[in-house]
Amino acid sequence: MNEELYLDFLAKWQEIVSILVFVVLGIGVLNYIFYRINFSLQKTLKEKFDLASEKETKKLLSGHILIAIALFLFCNTLEYETMKLDFVWFFIRLFVAMCIGVLYGYIAQLILKFYYPRILEKKLKKLRFTPRINPENGNKMKLLSEAEEDAYLDEGMQAEENVFSVDYDVWIDEATGYTKIEKYKGHLSALECDRCGFQTLRLEKEEIIREATETEDGELEKEYKCSYCNRIKRKTVVLSHKIRDTSGGGRLIDDPLTHDARISIVKIEIHSSKGEVREFDFQNLDQARNFLNEFDFEKLEEESY
Ligand SMILES: [Zn+2]
Repeated sequence: MNEELYLDFLAKWQEIVSILVFVVLGIGVLNYIFYRINFSLQKTLKEKFDLASEKETKKLLSGHILIAIALFLFCNTLEYETMKLDFVWFFIRLFVAMCIGVLYGYIAQLILKFYYPRILEKKLKKLRFTPRINPENGNKMKLLSEAEEDAYLDEGMQAEENVFSVDYDVWIDEATGYTKIEKYKGHLSALECDRCGFQTLRLEKEEIIREATETEDGELEKEYKCSYCNRIKRKTVVLSHKIRDTSGGGRLIDDPLTHDARISIVKIEIHSSKGEVREFDFQNLDQARNFLNEFDFEKLEEESY
């Protein structure tokens, strides 16, 4: 390779990449600062809760990806004098920088996946359970228990709570009776019923209409039923011949709980074989028991028609 051409290229590279490091870092930092500002501008704790639960992990992940890229670029500006000796060094540096960048991104992603959710959950709990203030008189409101709140929820809302697709919090100002209902995502997913509008449409049964053969796809009929208005919806899906496991995930049958009025909280921790841990809190045994009956790994992910 032409020596002069290489040195020229090296100098240009050094100049441009040095600037890019700051550009990329700057975008990452600004992106996160905008998120924090947006968070602090949310008026109610509920709005902060919604923003943090939806965006925070994504914002952190994109921020760390940008840091990984900046790190990769930064490593590509080091050892300038050595680079001048031979262009082979340039490729060695490029390779090492890539390893460092990928390693950083990988570790950040692992931390966000396995360690960070617990921190976020703590934060979200604080946002959700900090006593609400009555806007009319500034009184501190009280959160009703699951048993007390039913009187304030209509039947459709109760049906949603019974299938754990939505969780309603009812806050009351005991002095004036003013109530405030907040809607949260439940532990399990259910589809929105197109007749009554509640999130109470669940997979009732699956039936194989036609088995898949070596050469042809089969057919599976899924029957959904709304637990509130009893609407039944059927949908046929193609059963491709290689990837089908109809065993339907792990259903918990054993019921380790017995009635005890002294129990104030029931925690259920479910560990998946992939190493993920999901924790669920319940106020009473009936709820926990119903949850176990409803539980299915497939319901943890959003179902789609
Ligand atoms: Zn319905």
